[in-house]
Amino acid sequence: MIGGVPKALDVALIDVGGTLWPNSWPFRETDGVGRHQRVSAAMPMLGAVKVDALVADLVASSRIGDEARALSTETPSTIAAAEVLIAASLARQGLPVDAPTVARIRRAMALPVADRMKPLPGAIELLAEIHALGLQTIIASNTYWRDAESYWEDFRLLGMAANVDAIVTSVDAGHLKPHPAVFEMAMRVAETPPERCVVIGNREENDIEPALALGMRTILVYPDDPKPASSRAHAVAPDLWACAISLKAMLDQA
Ligand SMILES: [Mg+2]
Repeated sequence: MIGGVPKALDVALIDVGGTLWPNSWPFRETDGVGRHQRVSAAMPMLGAVKVDALVADLVASSRIGDEARALSTETPSTIAAAEVLIAASLARQGLPVDAPTVARIRRAMALPVADRMKPLPGAIELLAEIHALGLQTIIASNTYWRDAESYWEDFRLLGMAANVDAIVTSVDAGHLKPHPAVFEMAMRVAETPPERCVVIGNREENDIEPALALGMRTILVYPDDPKPASSRAHAVAPDLWACAISLKAMLDQA
């Protein structure tokens, strides 16, 4: 309740790549060593040679953005899910395939990002403003290796966790946006209907279109993208401070 009037929205569902973080960040020469150490820690019974073979197989068969020169946070929806890929890699390496092992390896492959990039300008302030406006914040993100637990660690290290209520990733929901599963899972977590949600994101096809189809409010932001030629979003904001103003106006109008 704000001023004795029920507020129009309960929850903001917020994308990450190109919204709160940059769309991509530099690949590092040490990433290979980092992955070897993390997979080795996840599979303590494996020797160094076997860990190397497994990591090489995982990297070669995933071939998503983070194996090229830049890490991309916009994952193409045509690639196999990380779990399927990891299970196939384990089988090829003659290793046992079970769900806890697959999950441990997926988390090991999700390299921490806090030391290589910063939140986009205004991101921490936007999260604080959403709470000040009386809304919950749920991260709603397409990811490949990362699940909610991996993301929480990133958010803590980046100083962004304090104003986040929950995290839902495509790994946790089982489908990549634009499939509605991520938003549907977020609504279950928030226990609120679509008309009381606002989606904030940088991709018309992944964020705005599925949100509109569910009957949610929408704000398209482009702090790390060119200005969009057009959008069906309820509001369009060039940066995250403008997004906070748009969100406040949305609450005032309702
Ligand atoms: Mg995005």
